Amino acid sequence: MGKRKRKKGKDGEEESRQNTDSDNDSISSTSTAANKYEPFRVLNYTRSYPENGGNFEYIVFFESTDPGKPIGDRDMMGMSTSLKRYNKGVKQLVRINKYKIGVIFERASFANAALTNTKYLDSYKMKATIPAGATEVTGVISHVPINLSNQEIYDTISSTKHIVQIRRFMRRNKVDNDFQITPTLTVSITFSCPVLPESIDLNSWRFDVKPYIPPVKQCLRCLRYGHIGKFCKNSERCSVCGGNHNFKTCTIDTKDATCLHCQGRHIAISKECPVKYKN
Ligand SMILES: [Zn+2]
Ligand SMILES: [Zn+2]
Ligand SMILES: [Zn+2]
Repeated sequence: MGKRKRKKGKDGEEESRQNTDSDNDSISSTSTAANKYEPFRVLNYTRSYPENGGNFEYIVFFESTDPGKPIGDRDMMGMSTSLKRYNKGVKQLVRINKYKIGVIFERASFANAALTNTKYLDSYKMKATIPAGATEVTGVISHVPINLSNQEIYDTISSTKHIVQIRRFMRRNKVDNDFQITPTLTVSITFSCPVLPESIDLNSWRFDVKPYIPPVKQCLRCLRYGHIGKFCKNSERCSVCGGNHNFKTCTIDTKDATCLHCQGRHIAISKECPVKYKN
């Protein structure tokens, strides 16, 4: 937390994404004000399934820790045999993508045990995680005073549900040939429970908690929807003019941008783009 190194974004995006799972494609923290607004995550918190969590599936993601050998390239039958031999309660395996498989366990306790089965994980060069969506829920509150850091919000907040992360949304504006990050009045709160509380309390002010709707996945390399830059095989497109170059080398001013999706007067990653919501 706080010290996490992020690669500099390849392109501008107007609202930082939730930095969970592999979707941390591009959040820049080059701004000087960034520290105050770094996402605040509760220390020593690890996801686990509650023992009486109902009858949903207890899925655990497995990924390779050996960069030369993605899990999707391994022997599938050998993998299910070893998983079942060294872990209790394996019900089913599913391939998510080249880098990830999902293992469904019969019970919460079996899934939780698999996470800490370091002997097995180490010898097969794997790591195991519970996806955020399985045990957490994220909501947003609006009109949060701009001077409050994420840490201060956490220290002040009172809630009936356990909070694991606070993150103020940041806006990126292109200034000259660089991006400036400015805080917005919207803050997301992640709770370690399946249902959002209706409200939280901030120094006696009640804030309604609305569901967080994650931004549509958009590739910052080719600007298409549905995947992120890490997995992109297309050629690079410019978000300002749509040409085959990086936006940083573009000679056209942002205000004269032409969106490659709709030909509108905005950059191709803009929230104003009507095509964004059709995807
Ligand atoms: Zn792409
Ligand atoms: Zn361009
Ligand atoms: Zn557009």
